[in-house]
Amino acid sequence: MAPSPTRMRPNGTPPAGAAHDLLHYRLSERLGQEELVTVYRATHLTLDRPVQIRVLRRTDWISVSRFQLAGKLAARLSHANLLPVIDAGHDERYGDYIVTPQLDARPLTELLAEGPLEPLVVLRIVAQLGAVLDYLHSQGIIHRDVQPANIYVTPQGTAYLSNLSLAAAPEAPDFSGIEDADYLTAYAPPEQSLTDGQPSPALDVYALGMVLYHALSGALPPRGTAEPPTLAERNAELAAVDRVVRRMIAIPPAQRYPSAGQAVAALRQALRQQLDAATSDMEEGHWEASAEWLENPLETIAGDVIESEFLTQSRARADTLHRVDAIRRLLDRWSRAGLMRRPLLGQIIQPEQIVSYNVYTYELRVQYEVRGQPTTRQSVYRGSGEPFGREFERWAAPVPDAEPFIDVTPEVIVIPGSQQVISCPECRGAQRLPCKMCAGKGTIPRTRSVNESDGSAREETFHENCPTCRGYGRQDCVRCEATGQLLEEKTFIWSRRGTIYFEEDDISGLDRKILIKKAQEVYRSPIELRDGRWLQIAPLKALMEAALAGGGEDARPIAAELVVRGVPVTEVDYRYRDRPHTLAVIGFDNTVRGDAALYDLERILLYAVILVMAILLAALIFLR
Ligand SMILES: [Zn+2]
Ligand SMILES: [Zn+2]
Repeated sequence: MAPSPTRMRPNGTPPAGAAHDLLHYRLSERLGQEELVTVYRATHLTLDRPVQIRVLRRTDWISVSRFQLAGKLAARLSHANLLPVIDAGHDERYGDYIVTPQLDARPLTELLAEGPLEPLVVLRIVAQLGAVLDYLHSQGIIHRDVQPANIYVTPQGTAYLSNLSLAAAPEAPDFSGIEDADYLTAYAPPEQSLTDGQPSPALDVYALGMVLYHALSGALPPRGTAEPPTLAERNAELAAVDRVVRRMIAIPPAQRYPSAGQAVAALRQALRQQLDAATSDMEEGHWEASAEWLENPLETIAGDVIESEFLTQSRARADTLHRVDAIRRLLDRWSRAGLMRRPLLGQIIQPEQIVSYNVYTYELRVQYEVRGQPTTRQSVYRGSGEPFGREFERWAAPVPDAEPFIDVTPEVIVIPGSQQVISCPECRGAQRLPCKMCAGKGTIPRTRSVNESDGSAREETFHENCPTCRGYGRQDCVRCEATGQLLEEKTFIWSRRGTIYFEEDDISGLDRKILIKKAQEVYRSPIELRDGRWLQIAPLKALMEAALAGGGEDARPIAAELVVRGVPVTEVDYRYRDRPHTLAVIGFDNTVRGDAALYDLERILLYAVILVMAILLAALIFLR
């Protein structure tokens, strides 16, 4: 270490022979120099408290803004793994400074320079970083600069995240003048931009994944490689960890874990065997060797939009059930809670395989608009001239406004531009037709009886004016109301109706009624039926294809809403009397469902016999 520095100019270089004080602090030894700051050991003058002071080495506007942001944010935030800020300020001679507690910690860069770290050490560090990142994200802050230089680790293994100078936060200065490339580290995700107004936690999940990769392998993957070399190459035990890292550093942000905490949960699961070996004397940390978590494809593809509390809680539930003897204890409790249940079930059965996963059901509400095949209708037209305009295509014709998901009863819609004036086909445009009564003659023949003088009667024929046409022989055309022309136009029948489609994950062998009853809503949102993301999930693909085809020839889907419900399941394969059986533990309340092996058949039989005898006895007494 350099000898005690004295006063510094704003650029941080201490001039010789000057005073040692910076406001309330006495500066002593210089600990190091970073990109932006010089770090000093110091003592609070009145409290005699040892501290570290970071003095900004630059005076340009952007460096000062970043430094002040880091100080302001750190001062209002509080987390066990966030490097605390005790004080911050500006000194006339020294410039801007931040005061932090005296930490016996080394930057992770120094530790990594010595080679890769032990997987369990890495897990411990990453778990703490995950916790502080989730905390920052819950405060609406995205760190955007997670890298080993900003991570400090104490000899006891406590990790601190520092340097919020590039954070996206409500107080953040306008970074739009910054050249992104200057601030992208090898740990930053490819999509990161400081001018992005809507940065997401996925940025920090990626950077944490790169730190994880570096810490486990001793090096960063070569820049720009889509498929970094697998971690299992160096250490075969890291195959499961490799899958977790790959998901954290997936190029499409949507494929990454939705939160840092979920990534850490997956990492812990992947290192389960190493954890077991390390904590074999501590029952609490011990997992069943045969227990496994299976991620649902929905979680892989759309984990970022599924309710994260459900995902976190279902993983925590599985972790609990996967601990040694947890299933046995659960079954013992279950045994005691019912008379017909086989006693001490947990002692009798031998779990062979424990698998936990979430089951989802999918409900797709689709609203269809129906526009029937156009038909032609004719009506009397009293106007003059031809109606003007080009004919609309059926699906382009305007219809009344209607809220989505509200049914509309069938209604006739005229296709604009389809109108034409035609000559009346009945009178051929003549407006009048020959009178039907008199066939156009104007008169109709009549007969009457005439009494002769001799008392006989004879029939006499004469003609009288036709009463219908009053002798004119012609009548107004009824069809065109004597206009001689008709308006011909095309119409279709318009309506809207909803259909609900339902699909579920493969739940063969599980009690469907219980699953449906315990499933909770984890997603509800309007979706696009052709959204490729959903099509990657088999049951949803089936659902969306059914929805697209389902309306029939004259219908089109105009809106769709997807509702996903999920329920956690743990399946246990076990042997009882040398035969394989399976039982399922369903939901967060761990409802047990299984076959007859779970029940005390002898006792049930005994009760049945007693019941039958009681009925017989009652019948006998009654009949006497
Ligand atoms: Zn006519
Ligand atoms: Zn007539």
